[in-house]
Amino acid sequence: MTKWVYTFGDGAAEGRAGDKNLLGGKGANLAEMCSLGLPVPPGFTITTEACNWYYANGRAYPETLKADVTAALDHIAKLTGRRFGDPARLLLVSVRSGARASMPGMMDTVLNLGLNDETVEALAADAGDSRFAYDSYRRFITMYSDVVMGLDHEVFEEILEDQKAQLGHELDTDLTAEEWQEVIGLYKAKVEEELGRPFPQDPQEQLWGAIGAVFSSWMNNRAITYRRLHDIPESWGTAVNVQAMVFGNMGETSATGVAFTRNPSTGEKALYGEFLVNAQGEDVVAGIRTPQNITERARIDAGSDKPSLQKLMPEAFQAFVDISERLEKHYRDMQDLEFTIERGKLWMLQTRSGKRTAKAALKIAVEMASEGLITEEEAVARIDPASLDQLLHPTIDPKAERNVIGMGLPASPGAATGEIVFSSDAAEEARAQGRKVILVRVETSPEDIHGMHAAEGILTTRGGMTSHAAVVARGMGKPCVSGAGSLRVDIRNGTLLAMGVTLKPGDVITIDGSNGQVLKGAVPMLQPELSGDFAKIMEWADKIRRMKVRTNAETPADARMARSFGAEGIGLCRTEHMFFDDDRIVAMREMILADTEEGRRGALEKLLPMQRSDFAELFEIMAGLPVTIRLLDPPLHEFLPKTEEEIAEVAAAMNVADDKLRQRTEALHEFNPMLGHRGCRLAVTYPEIAEMQARAIFEAAVEAAQKTGNPVVPEVMVPLVGLKKELDFVKARIDAVADEVMAESGAQIDYLVGTMIELPRAAIRAHVIAESAEFFSFGTNDLTQTTFGISRDDAASFLESYRQKNVIEQDPFVSLDIDGVGELVRMAAEKGRATRAGIKLGICGEHGGDPASIRFCEEVGLDYVSCSPFRVPIARLAAAQAAVRKR
Ligand code: ADP
Ligand code: MG
Ligand code: MG
Repeated sequence: MTKWVYTFGDGAAEGRAGDKNLLGGKGANLAEMCSLGLPVPPGFTITTEACNWYYANGRAYPETLKADVTAALDHIAKLTGRRFGDPARLLLVSVRSGARASMPGMMDTVLNLGLNDETVEALAADAGDSRFAYDSYRRFITMYSDVVMGLDHEVFEEILEDQKAQLGHELDTDLTAEEWQEVIGLYKAKVEEELGRPFPQDPQEQLWGAIGAVFSSWMNNRAITYRRLHDIPESWGTAVNVQAMVFGNMGETSATGVAFTRNPSTGEKALYGEFLVNAQGEDVVAGIRTPQNITERARIDAGSDKPSLQKLMPEAFQAFVDISERLEKHYRDMQDLEFTIERGKLWMLQTRSGKRTAKAALKIAVEMASEGLITEEEAVARIDPASLDQLLHPTIDPKAERNVIGMGLPASPGAATGEIVFSSDAAEEARAQGRKVILVRVETSPEDIHGMHAAEGILTTRGGMTSHAAVVARGMGKPCVSGAGSLRVDIRNGTLLAMGVTLKPGDVITIDGSNGQVLKGAVPMLQPELSGDFAKIMEWADKIRRMKVRTNAETPADARMARSFGAEGIGLCRTEHMFFDDDRIVAMREMILADTEEGRRGALEKLLPMQRSDFAELFEIMAGLPVTIRLLDPPLHEFLPKTEEEIAEVAAAMNVADDKLRQRTEALHEFNPMLGHRGCRLAVTYPEIAEMQARAIFEAAVEAAQKTGNPVVPEVMVPLVGLKKELDFVKARIDAVADEVMAESGAQIDYLVGTMIELPRAAIRAHVIAESAEFFSFGTNDLTQTTFGISRDDAASFLESYRQKNVIEQDPFVSLDIDGVGELVRMAAEKGRATRAGIKLGICGEHGGDPASIRFCEEVGLDYVSCSPFRVPIARLAAAQAAVRKR
């Protein structure tokens, strides 16, 4: 018989931390904490299998589940002396969802379940505190009505606001027992009015209502969207945790809070968290009252005059410090903790590995390795390569003038500039139009995820460091300033009021998530650099990885930046980008528009010295590291004059009539330029172009080698080869030029000639092509395009729809399609090696900077990956992780 329910409590548990698949993350860790003997209110977990059974059977429960739940409630009764539904020995519970991975789309927790008009009196008598009892009941009605019955909690908040205004109270905690009683009456009337039925009084009905709501929430839209965004399979299901209540709202000696064992923003090794006295559950996160600091040090740092937990409840504080240290050691990772103090006694309600910024992740990994808690290899494995992106983004130039219009909490580091938008939909819309926006909200909720994704940064006027906005932004690596209380969002008029300034949607602001500042306008930014913990992790990664990491670069600035990020050469220098400069484009156009070889050679003569100096500079920057230069690749018409002005300019330079030029331009028109006259096809029809480029490369190599003393071994790459004879034709010209340059200069030039593999035919004929090619570079952008027959420039319009309908899981232009395109890569690599043992193999498509694709490259045994300069550190780390995985 299947076991659907696992109990925990009082130093023992049926499950453990390793049972996340079955018990969900929350349930597994509650069980583990119990087994460690920590103070955890007893309870039980209904398994994810029960959830799957529920969906497989038309939303019904397994037959034995009811009995199992009853038995588990008995188990709690045995441990607590309290019985669910029994006013004489009242037991209240919380019902909490818990999937394997923490999922914002899931049902919110319901607290104080089991309360009704009768039991609330029992609770009051039991605690000797009726204010506390009614406070709990009103919370329960709000939460249960909202998450189980679907009545928005705002209707209750309105009632409460009205009452507070009438009574002249500012805080919820100011209300007396009688006043709460009145509020409860209004709440219940509202439920009946809105839903046409009374608030359920039967505890069993309440319990099963909540359990059903947790299961149902697995298939709500929020959860489905979240799963899609995070590649979480539907088959995981969610668990339900039912747990005896402990009360943080039993007056001034009670409290509730959340904490991290290390600072999740900076990584500093110091307990970091917030709490509220006389409060319950998510009050801290919801930002209703401003939370207090846990440690004295944090309080002083924050300049707060509200006492810390350390000061206020020293015993509970010390117990909490001890437990947090123990949990961090036990899990060997920074923990995110939730706790409640009931009349001075500490209870643990959750632990999990804490989300952190990339900066914090690096610091924590490096320090834990130095502390001997984890190995260097584990430290490297712990960093999500994609998250490094955060550190490779600009920060505000310290010398820049700052027009500060507001101040909030530094919730997620990095700076961002954009136009103000007030809604997530507006953010998404603007993003689709290519505009950069800052999402400005009072606070965010799980419904804002898509807007947060679309925005450059997030600004909220309410909420602390652990508010929804802060946590999610850190997870996404987006700059965020939260709780900027001096700013006011006026939703009705669609304005942001900041220190006397009124800002409207479309106005540009900058946020600095590293210090909490909100600035008017755009501000100069600084480029990131690689140092400290970041450099350390990179150093460790470099010891582990096998593949080399090169960069795709053609400008000296990019090449230098890539070097500073650790690039070990250039994997792709796109020569065409070098022709777009003002002084060159005219000569380029002359070349293209010339209708004789002579005319072309004349124009190429002008381009030669420019190309030569470009290459020489790159060779010098790369100081002996390999540099792969690709011969001219795109269809020629990309360079053509478009406006009348441009046509006139080129015509003058060529000394021909405008009309003649226009005709020639039209003659070059192609219906499908991507599949047209481009790549090596240009070199076959106009060999003089390839010859000029080869000459520029070899002359530059001689020059740079002489100047720097570093040997330069250029790798000349012929693009878009499908036939061996295409390569042979071009290679013969390249070799001839090399011989000429050697004869002229008297210098010996070592060089390689290779090809890109970017057509299926080239992959299929790789064993033959390898007879001539000394290296292969997989141009996976084009190879994806030509394998799928999908134009990269036109794919956006339908690929997103494919993703939404689950026809494809991922955009194949972002992450390599391993089954299809990858199969071609694997095949070509094997065939190439069969012909030419040790043939140099690399990848230079966009995929060279994508961690999942890099893992594949390691599996196939490529020699290097090449990616854009900013992704070099990501690739270094991903390559190391791939190497560890392969072992
Ligand atoms: P989330 O997944 O959103 O963090 P939780 O299930 O952890 O939701 O519940 C949120 C908060 O509710 C907890 O941090 C805790 O403060 C409170 N809570 C949950 N269960 C109990 C309980 N049994 N007793 C007291 N407070 C509880
Ligand atoms: Mg929650
Ligand atoms: Mg929680």
